[in-house]
Amino acid sequence: MRTRYLNALLWRGGDTRPTLCDFDVVDGRVTSTEGLADLNVDLAGAFTMPAFRDGHCHPLFAGREHVGPDVTEAKSLAEIQSLISSYASLNPEVIWIDAAAYDPSIAANFHRSELDSAVLDQPVVLHSSDHHTLWVNTKALELSGLLHKIPALSAGSIDIDEQGIPTGIIREWEAMQFVMSKLPALTIEQELDCLDWAQAELLRYGIAEVQDAWIDPGMAEIYLESARRGRLKVRINLAFRADPASWLEDFDYFDMMRAEVTAQNNSNLHVYAIKFFVDGVLGSSTASLLEPYVAGPKVHTHGEQVWPKVALLAAAAEATARGYQLHLHAIGDAAVRTALDVIETVSPKIAAVIAHAELISDVDLPRFAELNITANLQPLWAREDGQLMSCVPQVDRVRIDKLYRMRDLLSSAARLAFGSDWPVSSPNALTGVATAVNRCLPGGSSWTIGQAVTVKEALNAYTNGVAAQLSNSERPGTLFPGDRAEFITLSQNPFEVLPARLFEIQITQIYL
Ligand SMILES: [Zn+2]
Repeated sequence: MRTRYLNALLWRGGDTRPTLCDFDVVDGRVTSTEGLADLNVDLAGAFTMPAFRDGHCHPLFAGREHVGPDVTEAKSLAEIQSLISSYASLNPEVIWIDAAAYDPSIAANFHRSELDSAVLDQPVVLHSSDHHTLWVNTKALELSGLLHKIPALSAGSIDIDEQGIPTGIIREWEAMQFVMSKLPALTIEQELDCLDWAQAELLRYGIAEVQDAWIDPGMAEIYLESARRGRLKVRINLAFRADPASWLEDFDYFDMMRAEVTAQNNSNLHVYAIKFFVDGVLGSSTASLLEPYVAGPKVHTHGEQVWPKVALLAAAAEATARGYQLHLHAIGDAAVRTALDVIETVSPKIAAVIAHAELISDVDLPRFAELNITANLQPLWAREDGQLMSCVPQVDRVRIDKLYRMRDLLSSAARLAFGSDWPVSSPNALTGVATAVNRCLPGGSSWTIGQAVTVKEALNAYTNGVAAQLSNSERPGTLFPGDRAEFITLSQNPFEVLPARLFEIQITQIYL
């Protein structure tokens, strides 16, 4: 079967320029035109480019979040309260109300009593948009056993008031688990529906392949079942999360799941990486900083690292020995340094990934290129929005204005790949591209424009940059002859529009 695409304004990726041309697709691969085609498709001059790839996101979490009330767009406490209480009255059969994701910048403090006034007799859990913080009502604290007894934690916190009573704010995974483990599990049919919804969203945004950067026990099974039933439409790479408390036993299970995925031999499902959280996030003052926070929790003035360094080294070495790629979440400059040190010591054969890399000390910046590391950054965070501003009081303005050094990383010859961290931010890669170029909200004014990248650099980071991160030589995220014909068409040519108008471009079609 030879399909001929006519009149494509084709950008093949890399350093090429868009050119008006025809191309053929034979057996799923791009080739030059030759002879007669079986089918002709006129692209009518549409800008045509490789499909997007997302190097760090969480489709299953996003799908699960979609089940509960959506408070993402709420601009005030009153709006959140009204969304939650109307959801509760419309869904009386739901035992735990699990909502996402509130904007932490809409109030200085959040308290369980504010959720109690929306819903008193049902447990309510709200995820912050940073996804490292929960805000719960009193009923949820009571059912989680936290109202009268605060457990000891190695990382994170259950915030308390002067009387020692929990306020309803819970930070970081270890603490959050006390609540999250009480939520009733979804059935496999519900999980598959969540995944179907998430994949439809990704395809809508022109995304052909993603790194699911957080797989806990029970999640790979859902992907396997989806693949078995022929429901996996987006190519998914799984990264198992190494837990500091149980990593050694978990690795045997990861190996077993990897073997199952390999045996299934579905071209849309792969296991590649092990994910390590080196630190938390700036908004919760849990990101690990070289210089102390200027405000926030008194206990950890420099934030926290999730692992003792020796244990992280041992776990990273074990992951490498078992043939996994290292995918390290590091946000604060101290965590980025730890991640670099670990990679330098372990010296993995597969190029490692540092995800987020929000704050990088000058002395550490060249180490990304030296150690052949992919920096996976989230372009939608590089703008002056509520999320960024909510970090200013504890981090201080000077450090905030040093975040997301995309230009410096590229200038240092580091490999840059993009991801959305969806559901932390939207999977809309085109908005990501527009933001990476403008460093602003749509219609807003630019922030730290010196770290902006060009349209070409942004498109590369969202296509072949991710393919390189995933070492996907079979699908390099370009459209040269012989490459997989996975492409999208756009409503306008991004190389020609004014930068501020990049936000207006839409995906018109995805071809997989
Ligand atoms: Zn993430």
